[in-house]
Amino acid sequence: MATAEGMIFDIQRYALHDGAGIRTLVFLKGCPLRCPWCHNPEGQQKGQQVMRYEDGTEKVAGRRMGVEDVLREVEKDTIFYDQSGGGVTFSGGDPLLQPGFLRELLKACKAHDLSTAVETSGYARWEDVAEVAPLVDLWLYDLKLMDPERHRTWTGVSNRRILRNLEGLAAAGARLIVRIPVVPGVNDDRANLEATGRFVAQLDAIAEVHLLPYHRAGMSKYDRLGMDYTLDDTPEPGEEEMERLAAIVQESGVRTKIGG
Ligand code: SF4
Repeated sequence: MATAEGMIFDIQRYALHDGAGIRTLVFLKGCPLRCPWCHNPEGQQKGQQVMRYEDGTEKVAGRRMGVEDVLREVEKDTIFYDQSGGGVTFSGGDPLLQPGFLRELLKACKAHDLSTAVETSGYARWEDVAEVAPLVDLWLYDLKLMDPERHRTWTGVSNRRILRNLEGLAAAGARLIVRIPVVPGVNDDRANLEATGRFVAQLDAIAEVHLLPYHRAGMSKYDRLGMDYTLDDTPEPGEEEMERLAAIVQESGVRTKIGG
């Protein structure tokens, strides 16, 4: 029996946008990036955090769970996975920030014949990525900005390791969906989208690119965590605008879709 434990901040059932079919999303705590548009800011720090609500109540984000505890939760919906071609998606934060725990979780899923997906920023040690790769059926791999300096400015880290890891996964034949969180004024310019399309097009293994429109759904969490939300004035892109941007990415020949 697996004994590894890790820090989880949420488990959501019946999800439809993070991999095929009906899925359970398991959110692991900790992320090496600090994107100001992040809608799961309670997932950024590795340790527990207190969220203070408007009505005076408090909730702790993050609890230690064992592999078997997580598996017990995700197995509740096995019937839905079987019917819909769904499974389990590990998200965050970035699940690769708890590589040993992620590996044990994936192993346990595979032992129970569950389909697996991992959503990642890609900012991780290649050794950790390569070790879990054989256990991952689908990668949901974020690409935010192609220029390393702009990437550093907006997320706190360069994208070199992210791009290298993506190339490595593609070369290893991994099944990949590249996701671009489209944030107006940050990464929605033609130069960035063209460069992203070109980069993805030269990788063999990519199935498609998904453009995820910026939204403010996580904004209230910032207040609850005592954090500043700095994108108040950023508009949520409309359907027409998203189509225009998707067309730019598609010029490179990659199959492009709006939404997850
Ligand atoms: S990579 Fe994802 S989880 Fe991490 S800070 Fe950015 S948006 Fe949030």
